[in-house]
Amino acid sequence: MGSLPACATSSDRTRRNGTFTGVLGNTQSMRECFEIRATDAGGRLGELTVPRAETTVETPALLPVINPHLDTIEPGTLETEFGAEMLITNAYIISNSTDVREQALEEGLHDLLGFDGAIMTDSGSFQLAEYGDITVTTEEILEFQRDIGSDIATPVDIPTPPDVDRERAEADLETTQERLEIAETVDTGDMLVNAPVQGSTYPDLREAAGRHARGTDLDVFPVGAVVPLMNDYRYDDMIDAVAGAKRGLGTAAPVHLFGAGHPMMFALAVAMGCDLFDSAAYALYARDDRYLTVRGTRHLEEMTTLPCPCPVCTTSTVEELSALPDDERETALARHNLHVSFAEIRRIKSAIRDGRLLELVEQRARSHPTMLDGYRALLEHGDLLERTDPISKGTFFYTSHESARRPEVRRHHDRLARLEIPDSVFLTEGNTSSDDRYDASWRVLPPFGPFPRALSRTYPLAAEVPRRQDRAALEAAATGVRRLVDEHPETSFTLGHRGWPEGVLEGVPDRVRLLDLTTDLSDGEEE
Ligand SMILES: [Zn+2]
Repeated sequence: MGSLPACATSSDRTRRNGTFTGVLGNTQSMRECFEIRATDAGGRLGELTVPRAETTVETPALLPVINPHLDTIEPGTLETEFGAEMLITNAYIISNSTDVREQALEEGLHDLLGFDGAIMTDSGSFQLAEYGDITVTTEEILEFQRDIGSDIATPVDIPTPPDVDRERAEADLETTQERLEIAETVDTGDMLVNAPVQGSTYPDLREAAGRHARGTDLDVFPVGAVVPLMNDYRYDDMIDAVAGAKRGLGTAAPVHLFGAGHPMMFALAVAMGCDLFDSAAYALYARDDRYLTVRGTRHLEEMTTLPCPCPVCTTSTVEELSALPDDERETALARHNLHVSFAEIRRIKSAIRDGRLLELVEQRARSHPTMLDGYRALLEHGDLLERTDPISKGTFFYTSHESARRPEVRRHHDRLARLEIPDSVFLTEGNTSSDDRYDASWRVLPPFGPFPRALSRTYPLAAEVPRRQDRAALEAAATGVRRLVDEHPETSFTLGHRGWPEGVLEGVPDRVRLLDLTTDLSDGEEE
């Protein structure tokens, strides 16, 4: 397929530093295999070109994990029934089983698995870390992956677990980085190569690791060793780890959240800038009679109905599934689990296209308190979200008090400093004022705060907000007032508010004259 954009390969090391001005608005250093089509918060729709498979994978993408020894669902079916464009299998398992190894070397992975799309291989870092010392070199493990026809290979990195002491995290990272540097020198042809980003639970180490990986000419960037965090429902720590990596990697790098396969957290991770996911969960959970949903996991035993619209759930009942022989029930549940997972990926893509990703994340955050922690952690990285958040989208929906911390609110506050303003301004939640004590009457809309009425129909100020405002929205609006007032020391301000509590008004500078519109209608307001 000659029309595909070229990706950097080992024989072509020099073309890395192209630049483009695209949807990101800024000039970004660019990874040639990855093109970003649209963004929303930190999330993006992209295209990952995989030259060895002669294909382009649309991201966010879910890579089902295939164990070459046991096909819960055949790889060909993953393509035809579920639309999987890429899958991932383990080169370590292949190299350690004589029959599969020979077959893979002779026929290549695509024939072995019966899959035409892109195939990523894991090196077995996890197994090596669990079961013993590495006896193969980085060259050998990459050459093996090349020889079996992998499209995206992985060097053997050190997946440092969470919460280890810093010395160990640093030492492990140094080893990983040495191996990435060796990986750059291996003749990998047109195979892409992963550059895992480690650093345990130290965001600054993750950032340094990301910066180092970005400086290599490797292609795809898995954030590694987050599985223990997800197993412990530490979605906030997971977000911090990803955010650290993203700070180092920049916005142009394709990022893989390695080992993340539960559809409940896809939207959250995409909003932090993850592009690839791999799911072993669909099969592992099915083996244990567990039924995945976007709001968490159910055990088949505790269910009375199947709420999902997938082909499995619309053609069988809980009783029928439970009565199936073990292997058939496992396959049926795995199919359901995959349907749910791929449906969530499609929903996320559509949300990014529509500028509604954060609203989807807010919905998912309501499914479990730890997901809410994850969302709150995400909002703490507002500067990162803002780098790629579009200036204009559909309508901003205020759907939870966390909405007050969305990047759009933050950006509006930053913008207040740049607005032209007359000498005397009435900022009001009420209607416009014809009182000639004021040169202008600006609208105040929680959570954004004040703005000239001419901007009322622009994004995000044409927002849908509940009539019954919460404290977070009022506090954000007060912050907006304070930002405006502090930036314009020459201007005199009056604030007409609808009964803001004392604690919220404390956020408004003392020099602003206050007028409670719910008790005092005599001043400054008319229809
Ligand atoms: Zn289903």
